[in-house]
Amino acid sequence: MTDVINRKGLRKNFWQRVPMDQMSDAEWEALCDGCGRCCLNKLEDPDTGQVALTRVACRLLDGDTCRCGQYDIRHQFVPECIRMTPKTLPLHVYWLPGTCAYKRLHEGDGLPDWHPLITGTPQTVHDAGISVQGWTIPEFEVDEEDWEDHIIGDAS
Ligand code: SF4
Ligand code: SF4
Repeated sequence: MTDVINRKGLRKNFWQRVPMDQMSDAEWEALCDGCGRCCLNKLEDPDTGQVALTRVACRLLDGDTCRCGQYDIRHQFVPECIRMTPKTLPLHVYWLPGTCAYKRLHEGDGLPDWHPLITGTPQTVHDAGISVQGWTIPEFEVDEEDWEDHIIGDAS
């Protein structure tokens, strides 16, 4: 399976020894496992702050590859899409899934053994059942008021 994220030419095991704010742009991008979970719509309880994940996906998410259909120009279509950087990461950690490499490294955990940087193939993310492959619904097929019918659990 071809990996659309370039994980070649990076410093060996950089995720174990380079602080996140000192990673190169390519290393930072390579941390993403391509699961697609951050592209699912969420519902936040205004009283408790609890975030529930739904299987209703952003309109640009490809439900088979779990990739953004227009990553480089996505903000033209989805201006609210988060730009994850070392600076913005702390603001978003609370809703990122526990499997997310950015969240894991931020919290001092290592990468899981199915991560493409460990296995050398993006297929392992799907094989491990971590990705959203095959079970999302595009947001243009569900009214926002019905998203709660598609809650799949807590975001984190
Ligand atoms: S949840 Fe994290 S690892 Fe998964 S696609 Fe989003 S940024 Fe990448
Ligand atoms: S615009 Fe792309 S990266 Fe952003 S949430 Fe939608 S599918 Fe994901």
